[in-house]
Amino acid sequence: MTYSGSGLGLLSDERIDISERLIRSEEDGLKSLTDPVTGLGNLRRMKTKAEKLIEQRADDPAPFSLGLFNIDRFRPVNDLFGRKAGDEILSQVALRISAALPEDALLSRISGDMFGMVLPTCFFEKDADRVGNLLRDVFTAPFDLGERIVRMSASFGFCQHPFAGTTFDELYDKCESALYQARESGPGSVRVYTHQMAREMRQRTQMEQALRKAVAAREIEAHFQPIVHLQSKKVTGFECLARWTDAELGDVPPSDFIPIAEQAGFIDTLTKLLFEKAIRCAKEWPEDTFLSFNLSSVQLIDPTTAFAVLSMVQKMDFDPRRIEIEITETAMMSDPRTAAMIINEMRAVGMRVLLDDFGTGQSSLGRLRDFTFDKVKIDRSFIAALDETDEANHIVRAIVNMCQALHLSVIAEGIETAAHAAKLVELGCEEGQGYYFGRPANAQETLALFSQESVLRDGYLDCTTTANGCCGG
Ligand code: C2E
Ligand code: MG
Ligand code: MG
Repeated sequence: MTYSGSGLGLLSDERIDISERLIRSEEDGLKSLTDPVTGLGNLRRMKTKAEKLIEQRADDPAPFSLGLFNIDRFRPVNDLFGRKAGDEILSQVALRISAALPEDALLSRISGDMFGMVLPTCFFEKDADRVGNLLRDVFTAPFDLGERIVRMSASFGFCQHPFAGTTFDELYDKCESALYQARESGPGSVRVYTHQMAREMRQRTQMEQALRKAVAAREIEAHFQPIVHLQSKKVTGFECLARWTDAELGDVPPSDFIPIAEQAGFIDTLTKLLFEKAIRCAKEWPEDTFLSFNLSSVQLIDPTTAFAVLSMVQKMDFDPRRIEIEITETAMMSDPRTAAMIINEMRAVGMRVLLDDFGTGQSSLGRLRDFTFDKVKIDRSFIAALDETDEANHIVRAIVNMCQALHLSVIAEGIETAAHAAKLVELGCEEGQGYYFGRPANAQETLALFSQESVLRDGYLDCTTTANGCCGG
C-alpha cells in the first residue's frame, strides 16, 4: 500500500510504500524508534502504539483517533533558507505540537514534513476537529530562525478507530485521505474522515476503475478548441481538451478525471493516448496550424516527461515547431528545477511553452522571471470580468504590456462575446479562444472547419461567421 500519493504534493522520495519504509528503518538499524532530527518517535513507534491500542480496544467500545499533518510549503522554505533552517523549523514544530497535545498522545515524525499522532482519548469526530483547530492555531505564531522569522501553516487529517478501520494500515490510509482533502481545501485546513468522505471515496474508486478501463480501451477522446488571431480572426491553432463519456457516469469533465488519473498513477498512459490521437488529427490540418496540449502537474515532477513527449512527436513524424505545451504555474511549484529542465528540453527542439491560467497562481511574476516561456495565457476569470469592472481592464492591460516588454506572446481564454474580443484587441492582446469563436469540438467537426467557405475563398478560417462560433453551440 502506498501511503503518500503524489496528489498530496509530497516529495518524490516520500512516495514510498509504508511497509518498505518500515523495513528500511529496521535495516538501517533505527531500532531506537526515534527520529534523529526532532527526537520524536518515528513511524514504527506510531504503528506500535496504535496497534497496542487496537488490541486493547478490541473488547472496549471506546474509539480513539489517529492524525497526520503536513507543513504547508515546507520545501520552498527548506530550499530558500537551507537544510539547517528546515531542521530547526521541524524541531520547533515538534516542541510546540507536543506541548499542545494531551499527555497520553503520541507525536511522531513520519518523513520530511509529515507528522503522525495517536490520540487515545480523542473519541469523536468533533474532538478530532477541535484538536486539529487548536494545532492549526499553534502554527500561527512565527518561527524564529535567529536571523529571520518565518510564518508556516499545516494541514491536518484525522480518523477514528474503529469507524475508519480496524488495522493500522487501514487507519493510516483513511487519515491520509482526510489529509489529502484538507490540502485540497487550501493551507491550514483540518479534515476528519466522515461518512460523507467514505461515500465520496467509494464514488471516486468507482470512477477510477471506470477511467482505468476507458483508458485501456482507448476511449478518452481528443476535442479541439480554436485559437484565433484576434485582429484578423484567423485560426492559428487548436487546444486539445480531453473528453470522456462513461456509459453510467455520463460526460465527466477533465477537471474531475485528470486529477484521478494523476493520483492513481496512470496520467502518463492517458496523456500518451491523447497526445497520439491529437497529433494524428493535427497531421490532417494545414501545416501552419499548431496544436496546443496541456501537461498535468504530476508530469512536471517527472524528469522523463520531455523525453516521452519528444519520442511521441518523433515517432509520429510531426513537426515539433507546430506544438505548444500548456503548463500552469501551480504545476511547476512542487519541483521547479525539474519543471525548468522539462521546459528547456522541449523548447530546445522548437516546441513553444505556454503558461496557462495566468494570474490565478501564487507568484505569477516570479515564474516569468525564473522560467523561459514563449507565451502567457490570461486566465478566463479576468476576461469574464471585462464586462463588469474597470479593474479587470487595467489588469489585462498591465499583463499585455508586461508580456510585450518581456517579448512574450499573449493570449486570452474564455472569450464569450464580440465585446470581449473587441476589448482585447483594444488592449493589445494578440490571440484568443473562447465560446465566441468556437466550443471544443471532436476531430471530425474540427477537420470540417477547414472546408468552410471562408477558407476556400480567403485562405483562412473565420470563426465568427456561424451563429455559435465555428464549432457550433
Ligand atoms: P484549460 O487548459 O484552461 O482549458 C480551458 C477550459 O476552458 C476548457 O475547459 C474549455 O472548455 C473552457 N472554455 C473554453 N472557452 C470557454 C469560454 O468561452 N467560457 C468558459 N466559461 N469556458 C471556456 P475543460 O475542457 O473543461 O478543461 C478544464 C481543464 O482541464 C483545462 O483547463 C485543463 O487544465 C484540464 N485539461 C483538459 N484537457 C486536458 C488534458 O488533455 N490534459 C491535462 N493534463 N489537462 C487537461
Ligand atoms: Mg489549457
Ligand atoms: Mg486555461
